[in-house]
Amino acid sequence: MQLHHHLNSFGQYLRARHGGRVQKLALNVGFSCPNRDGSKGRGGCTFCNNASFTPHARQAPSLSEQLSSGRAHMQQQGATRYLAYFQAYTNTYADVETLDALYRSALQHQDIIGLAIGTRPDCVPDAVLDLLARYQDQGFDVWLELGLQSAFDSTLRRVNRGHGYAEYLDAVRRARSRKIPVCTHLIVGLPGEQAEHSLCTVNRVIDAGVDGLKLHPLHVVKGSQLANEWRRGEYQPMSFIEYVNLASEMIRRTPKSVLFHRVTATAQNQLLLAPDWCAHKWPVMNAIGENLARFGGQGHTLAGI
Ligand code: SF4
Repeated sequence: MQLHHHLNSFGQYLRARHGGRVQKLALNVGFSCPNRDGSKGRGGCTFCNNASFTPHARQAPSLSEQLSSGRAHMQQQGATRYLAYFQAYTNTYADVETLDALYRSALQHQDIIGLAIGTRPDCVPDAVLDLLARYQDQGFDVWLELGLQSAFDSTLRRVNRGHGYAEYLDAVRRARSRKIPVCTHLIVGLPGEQAEHSLCTVNRVIDAGVDGLKLHPLHVVKGSQLANEWRRGEYQPMSFIEYVNLASEMIRRTPKSVLFHRVTATAQNQLLLAPDWCAHKWPVMNAIGENLARFGGQGHTLAGI
């Protein structure tokens, strides 16, 4: 099932824009998170793996080592150019000079055509956005990836995000005023949420003017507060078919201009507790593709209104 026939995929967009396959190269450069160290909150999001914040876990290989190993892997898939994807934790959580040096050390490589910066909506001061806008002015592709997860403050409080929806709106407004495209990360199946919450969330972020979306089923990983809730029977993950149906409907309600960077996500086997279908992405992607083929693809619901 060719999923990209039914939605506006980021991979296809990059291929058309750059005349060949471009892959995101995920990096972990040892940032922490202000929602754990007391700057914005303590304890972190309830679904976040606490073990990943241990000193040992932060001893990731150097940036150039990660670029080399990522390249070696992705070249086998036909990629020749890459977006340096600062993915792990909060990748704007440092002073601007430090960030500039770090981002530039990735951009100096000939085959790195730009950056994707994963962060929290409450951790993107104007000075950081100005820095990203300068890279864009120099001809690099730049994406700001904001973890929002839900547009409901009650849910954000429940999962201890440490920020509200207002901070997200403010970050999107300031990024858009600098013409920096925003990709918003949404989690489907959050505690206390029903399908209506996810559908409302996607409507709200579209209204905010989002350029890209990432959808992610909530999975329970070892070392998280959510794992305790799940063991006590206080949290029940979504089933495979519930996720496929809901993610597909969210895609149908999204205008065709919005790029889907991802429609599901997996967790590492050694960390994943539940649901077990989150160990593999292809069955989920194929099922979403089949749903979209059968009931209408991206923008279909809007077209029918
Ligand atoms: S999920 Fe992200 S924002 Fe939440 S505690 Fe973990 S790193 Fe911080």
